[in-house]
Amino acid sequence: MTVLVTGASRGIGRAVALDLAADHDIAINYRNAADAAAGVVEAVEATGSTAVAVQADVRDSAAVDAMIETVVDELGSLDAVVNNAGIADPSLATDTDDAQWNRVLETNLTGAFYVTRAALPFLDPDGDVVFISSIGGTGGTVDASYAASKAGLHGLTRSLAREYGDGGIQVNAVAPGPVETEMNGVILEYLEEIDFRGHENIDTHLPAYACQPEDVAHTVRYLLENEYIQGEIVNVNGGMQFQ
Ligand code: NAP
Repeated sequence: MTVLVTGASRGIGRAVALDLAADHDIAINYRNAADAAAGVVEAVEATGSTAVAVQADVRDSAAVDAMIETVVDELGSLDAVVNNAGIADPSLATDTDDAQWNRVLETNLTGAFYVTRAALPFLDPDGDVVFISSIGGTGGTVDASYAASKAGLHGLTRSLAREYGDGGIQVNAVAPGPVETEMNGVILEYLEEIDFRGHENIDTHLPAYACQPEDVAHTVRYLLENEYIQGEIVNVNGGMQFQ
């Protein structure tokens, strides 16, 4: 089985690649972090699977099309795509400039669309598309560009499930709450800066440990292994959606 994971040089994407490595060949997409991506390739190969690093900015549709061709050439097939590449550039709505808004939407939503559009013609008829969304996609956050981009992924998930689901392709999303990664550090700094108090009562109800990239990765594996989940947004947030 072969999988493309976008934004797999670190964080959640890296954890997904390593979790799937035991029984999948993996294409590791990255934008800038070539050395980190090479480290993930090495870790995947240490399990006996094949890995390739493929550079492409997901905002660039021509680069994305070329990347998908490279992946299919090098791995021989494509069974699943995990759309994980994403950024947060948080600010309150009135402080968000055009460039910032566009960068977030183009990376998190348009980029995921470009990758999926390019991959679908090559995808195994029983293949999977998984989007890494966020709890902000359903509940909103104090960061409108990020929440809007993730809400867009939910529309994309359900629409593609309708369009391609009866052919056997499964399309689902995973919506984590805060996960301990570099990105979460940026978000926490911002929440501190705007003196956001929305999480104060939530923390006492959550599991005693912070959500790790591996918790998200296990959920992606579950979706790839299960044939009967279609068009779902799977929360991985310890119950945060009930607070
Ligand atoms: P991260 O540690 O910041 O890693 C982001 C990854 O995305 C990096 O590999 C980066 O590649 C890649 N990337 C960014 N822009 C890209 C572009 N234009 N083209 C290709 N790759 C690009 O982030 P993370 O926390 O693991 O987040 C991964 C996903 O989970 C994101 O979609 C995020 O929204 C979602 N998520 C995260 C959290 C959280 O709390 N951490 C919660 C919910 C959802 P380079 O290193 O090469 O730049």
